[in-house]
Amino acid sequence: TSSIFAAVEMAPRDPILGLNEAYNADTRATKVNLGVGVYYDDNGKIPLLAAVKTAERTRLETMPPRGYQPIEGPAAYDQAVQKLLFGADSELLAAGRVVTAQALGGTGALKIGADFLKRLNPAAKVYISDPSWENHRALFESAGFEVENYPYYDAETRGVNFAGMKSFLQGLPAGSIIVLHACCHNPTGADLSDAQWVEVVEVCREKGLVPFLDMAYQGFADGIDADAVAVRLFSTSGLQFFVSSSFSKSFSLYGERVGALSVVTASKEESARVLSQLKRVIRTNYSNPPIHGGAVVAAVLSNPELRQLWEDELAGMRDRIRAMRTGLVEQLKAKGVAQDFSFVAAQRGMFSYTGLSAAQVETLKNDFGIYAVSTGRICLAALNSGNIGYVAESIAQVVKG
Ligand code: PLP
Repeated sequence: TSSIFAAVEMAPRDPILGLNEAYNADTRATKVNLGVGVYYDDNGKIPLLAAVKTAERTRLETMPPRGYQPIEGPAAYDQAVQKLLFGADSELLAAGRVVTAQALGGTGALKIGADFLKRLNPAAKVYISDPSWENHRALFESAGFEVENYPYYDAETRGVNFAGMKSFLQGLPAGSIIVLHACCHNPTGADLSDAQWVEVVEVCREKGLVPFLDMAYQGFADGIDADAVAVRLFSTSGLQFFVSSSFSKSFSLYGERVGALSVVTASKEESARVLSQLKRVIRTNYSNPPIHGGAVVAAVLSNPELRQLWEDELAGMRDRIRAMRTGLVEQLKAKGVAQDFSFVAAQRGMFSYTGLSAAQVETLKNDFGIYAVSTGRICLAALNSGNIGYVAESIAQVVKG
C-alpha cells in the first residue's frame, strides 16, 4: 500500500535560508553574511537589550502563573502598542476608534488582518510593492487573495518611482487592498517622503482603497514618532485602515514572536464589532497569544526608567546602522570606486538595494566569502567595525572588475 504522502511534492526552498546554509558551510575565517534580516551589534551578535533583560528578570522573580491570555492579548500590551503607533495623545484612541490584538510577530498580524479582510471583501485584490518583503505575496495568497505588484522601486534613481506608484494606485478599483511599508522599506531601503505620504493618503481616500500599513521597523530610521508619520497621516485622514506592527527588531525579540494588528474603524461601536471578528479569526487559528514576550514589552513600555533605557538602546541600534551606511559609502569612495554609492547613506532601515548584479553577488560569494541576496540586497546591520573594511574592499574589487 502506498503512503498517503506519496504524491506530496517538495516545496521550493526559502532562498534566504539557503544562503544561510551556504554561509554556515563556508570555512573561510573572513566570511560575512549580509543576507540576513536581523540586527547584529558591533560584535556580530543579536543583542539582548538591557531593558528586556531587566523586565524579564523582574517578571521571572514573581514566577507568575501561566493561565490563558485574552484572545486579543492583555489590554496593557494592546494599549502600549496603540500609543507607540498612534501617539499617546491620539484622538483616535480617545474616541475608541482603534482595535488592537496581540499577534505572533508582524507576520501573525498580517495573517490575522488578511483572514479578516478575506471574510469582509472576498473579491478584493491585494497590491504589494515591487519589490516587497518576500513573504507578503505568499501570505496574502495563502489567505485566498490574488496578489499583484504596484510600481515602487526605481533602479535608476535608487529611490521610489513615485509618479508610477501614484498613477497605478489611482487606476485601482475601490476596495483594493494596498500593503504599504510604513518605514524602512524591505528590501530596498527606499522610503516615501512625508509629502508623498500625504499624496498616498489622498489617493486612498479618493479611490476608496483599503490601506494596510506594515510597520516592522519602527525606530530604525529616524525615531519612534518620526517613523510613525504614515500611521499618523492616515490617522488624521478619517479613513479606516490596518496596521501590522512588530517588536522583533525594535526589541530584538525575534523568536518571542511579539507583534500586533491594529484596525482603525469609524466609531467605537464599529470597533466592538470588528474586534469580535478579529477574535474569531484568532480563536480558530491559535486561540490566544503567548505570554512572555508581550509581557516584557508591556513592562518596558509602561515603566518610565525601562522605557528610557529602551529608547536609548533603540537609538543606539539606529545610529549604528547609520554609521555603517555612511562608513560603507566613505570607504568605497576611499578605495577608488568611481560609481556613486551615496544613495546607501540616504536609504533607511536595515537594508539596501546596492545595485550589485546577481553576477557580482556571485563573485562576492565565491572570491571573498561575502554573502548577499542575489537581488543585491544587503543588511547594513550585519556590518561592524571588524568587517566593514573587508566588505568595502571586496565590493570595490568586484565593481571595478
Ligand atoms: N514585514 C516586513 C516588511 C518585514 O521585513 C518583516 C520581517 O522581516 C516582517 C513583516 C515580519 O516580522 P516578524 O518577524 O515580527 O514576523
